[in-house]
Amino acid sequence: MSGEYLDNFDPAEGEVYDIIPDSDEIDVALAADAAENAFPAWSAASIEERSKILMKVASLIQRDLGEFARAECVDNGKPLALARNIDIPRAIKNFEFFASAIVNFSSESHSTGGVVNYTLRNPIGIVGAISPWNLPLYLFTWKIAPALAAGNCVVAKPSEITPMTACMLSEICIEAGLPRGVLNIVHGLGPKVGKAISSHPKIKAITFTGGTKTGAEIASIAAPMFKKMSLELGGKNPNIIFADCVPNERFGHKGNYEEMLETTVRSSFQNQGEICLCGSRIFVEKKMYDKFKTDFVERVKTLKVGDPLESATNQGAIVSKQHMEKILYYIELAKEEGGKILCGGNRVTLEGRCKNGWVIEPTVIEALPYNCRTNMEEIFGPVVTLTPFETEEEVLMMANSTEYGLASIIWTENITRAHRVASKIQTGIVWINCWMERDLRTPFGGMKNSGVGREGGLEALRFFTEPKNVCLKIKE
Ligand code: NAD
Repeated sequence: MSGEYLDNFDPAEGEVYDIIPDSDEIDVALAADAAENAFPAWSAASIEERSKILMKVASLIQRDLGEFARAECVDNGKPLALARNIDIPRAIKNFEFFASAIVNFSSESHSTGGVVNYTLRNPIGIVGAISPWNLPLYLFTWKIAPALAAGNCVVAKPSEITPMTACMLSEICIEAGLPRGVLNIVHGLGPKVGKAISSHPKIKAITFTGGTKTGAEIASIAAPMFKKMSLELGGKNPNIIFADCVPNERFGHKGNYEEMLETTVRSSFQNQGEICLCGSRIFVEKKMYDKFKTDFVERVKTLKVGDPLESATNQGAIVSKQHMEKILYYIELAKEEGGKILCGGNRVTLEGRCKNGWVIEPTVIEALPYNCRTNMEEIFGPVVTLTPFETEEEVLMMANSTEYGLASIIWTENITRAHRVASKIQTGIVWINCWMERDLRTPFGGMKNSGVGREGGLEALRFFTEPKNVCLKIKE
């Protein structure tokens, strides 16, 4: 309604390539009205009917996968191969998974002493969904698909920094036959559109993924209105490497050192390190610290940093100029805090169309105190720190020392130790000898300042429904 537009940038070129609506609270109110009108029919539709439309959305994204991947790559700066092989297929899976999960989502019932209890799971009504720029369609659909499957109508805001695939999704949803008003996508700025969604009285639940500070702002508005909230927030994840993941020739087993090394490069720098689950603090047992450092830095130096559209590129552009400046600020801070840069540390100037792109070298830093700001605050870029440790107790103390508690990674061949550390580490997700393996049936989310609530599988369907207990006494 404002009639104003925002510039949308291609981070690889550092140039404006499109515009999006700079919507305001009037647009959010119109979206909420449309959702309210659509809710009675959508919530009353049979589960099979809803499921069929969501499956159709999945198949149409699949049909246009190439275009979606290219749009995500240009909008975000991520390598095209990553968008094509991970981001967009996962958006498709989000729709497929929840279209099928809702069919099997049954109410619980209990019977005892002549009394029968059952629990109805009704849709909440209108749900507000607010998502970030790092995995644009992947996370947008992670919220929208279960909310719609459960029979809600949605008012959704993608990040203003990466709006393109959300625009494409809206067209796909119309083509798939999603009734008018069921999904309402409002583009625009967080403090305007996001805030209007958080505070709109007709919107009864908020699912948010983004920074911890923003999550707190949203909660301060939504909590006094007693809105249901799911907050997926920031992280500063530990990647703990025990020396017993090296081959033990004496016992003739190969160990998983190679796999650990290859996975650690990915868990450090995939998507330019702009994944909330990246292992940005790498702790290495002292007796293999030097070997790991040499092997790791050697591999990191082979990563191809370049044009996101080129197939050989491992690391593309940082999403925005402002975010690039934040990352460079932290690299300077690390130096001031006594850090030694083992590789990277600078902005890269590429050639050709990307000559003004926002690109930073993969950066590895050592010799920092575990509790300095570089190791405590979320950088969310291609920057990792290496810290040696001697004992399990010491590494647990360091790993648990931040305000965050999203994910952790543990590398060891000792199964007892793996479970012991997993039980003591303060994170919502623990990967043992792997990273980013995701079964969509499992709960996803963080402890401490990394979030409130869980999404994924049944947790998501429970969040997007209102339970109602009905208790009946059977008369003799
Ligand atoms: P952000 O918090 O700046 O923005 C996220 C969304 O919130 C955007 O759509 C933005 O427009 C909106 N927003 C901003 N201010 C708002 C306000 N006052 N009220 C309502 N909405 C507002 O986060 P970002 O920079 O887009 O994303 C990076 C952050 O997201 C990192 O901290 C990262 O760890 C986190 N993240 C977490 C997860 C997870 O699952 N836990 C996943 C991905 C990203």
